[in-house]
Amino acid sequence: MKKKINARFIQIGILSIVVTSLVMTAAFYAQVKRQVFSDLHIMAEILIEEDSIENQVDNLRITVINKDGSVAYDSDVDASKLSSHLDRPEVQEALKKGTGEDERRSDTLSESVFYYALKMDNGQILRVGKEARSVFSILLSTLPVSIGIGILLVLICMMLAHYLTKSMVKPIDKMAADLDHINEVEVYPELVPFARKIRAQHEEILSAANTRQEFTANVTHELKTPLAAISGYAELMEAGMANEGDIKRFSGEIRKSAARLLTLINDIIKLSQLDSGNAGEVLEPVNIAEIAEDSVEMLSLGASKNQVTISYEGVKEADVKIGKELAQELVFNLIANAVRYNKKGGKVFVKVFKDDTHILFSVEDTGIGIPKEHQERIFERFYRVDKSRSKELGGTGLGLAIVKHICSLTDGDLVLKSEVGKGTKISVTWKVE
Ligand code: ADP
Repeated sequence: MKKKINARFIQIGILSIVVTSLVMTAAFYAQVKRQVFSDLHIMAEILIEEDSIENQVDNLRITVINKDGSVAYDSDVDASKLSSHLDRPEVQEALKKGTGEDERRSDTLSESVFYYALKMDNGQILRVGKEARSVFSILLSTLPVSIGIGILLVLICMMLAHYLTKSMVKPIDKMAADLDHINEVEVYPELVPFARKIRAQHEEILSAANTRQEFTANVTHELKTPLAAISGYAELMEAGMANEGDIKRFSGEIRKSAARLLTLINDIIKLSQLDSGNAGEVLEPVNIAEIAEDSVEMLSLGASKNQVTISYEGVKEADVKIGKELAQELVFNLIANAVRYNKKGGKVFVKVFKDDTHILFSVEDTGIGIPKEHQERIFERFYRVDKSRSKELGGTGLGLAIVKHICSLTDGDLVLKSEVGKGTKISVTWKVE
């Protein structure tokens, strides 16, 4: 960027130098021309006044032209040899207006001839002509000085450009060098929103990196426990240290740990799929009421073993742009939690309602509830109120993180209400488009 700004400054400098010299030369030449014509005018008046037309005047060509264009007198050339001068622009003009002027290039480029014509009382035209330097020759003669001054100006221009660019870019450099203190560096007011955005992004990246690191550490830890159990029981059996009864028990433990690993890995895969930006995809509309009803039926059997009943209440049809897989994931996770953290003889109410503007899905239970201080954090990955209870019941600590992710992906408004000992209600509201 620095180089570009620098080059642009120099370009502008050179352009203004060239334009200024051309304009100055043109102005100077126009002035010379005016002066020459004014001199010629005065000369012509004097010649007529003093009746001395046929006198030789240095540097001046005097011509007298008859009305018909024939030349009556010429101070430089034999008049009889000259052809009609009627076609000369200055003569034409003088015939019409009384006076006329013209500038003509002489044979050499360096000189121009200026003519001034004046109509006399007797109808003849008096024309005085003078050779003077042409614009080209003026340009040429001033060229060395112009180039010298030009080079000097370009050098000054380059130096100024260098310092100007440096001072312009300095705050930006400072800002880039120390992103952590972006707010303290004095930058241009125009750059403040930009700087704020960069800082916000910078912080976001840092926190995302932190979260990822924490997540990886948690995953590793969570995987380790069932793997250690599997390997421990297998080792005991391998060493022949287990009797018939033990083998059955150990195999059961191994199966449980393996199942736990599977659910854990499945949840991790789901989360990473959500993380990897399904957000850009268009999610097809799905009847969330049907999915809720199906899930109630599916989970009822398992729940009844814990003496928990699940019921569905609500509409038959409510389409949400969520996609079938995410819808099932969301509904299943919430109902499974409501059963898992319930009490014996407890109830779970699953509802889907709809009006002109919103679709509401809620899962309410009469379970153990969530203490206030944990309510905000339970949507974090691997956060559990009671770790051992969750593990015992096959929880991974990832269910609500997945739910939250799905809600933000589908613009669903997620609300949690819970009271310890009484129960929990989690609801999601979508706007109908
Ligand atoms: P888990 O696999 O442990 O259930 P979740 O992310 O689904 O993980 O839930 C996180 C924690 O939130 C749970 O461990 C539990 O402590 C608490 N929780 C979730 N749902 C409920 C509920 N319906 N009633 C009481 N506690 C709940």
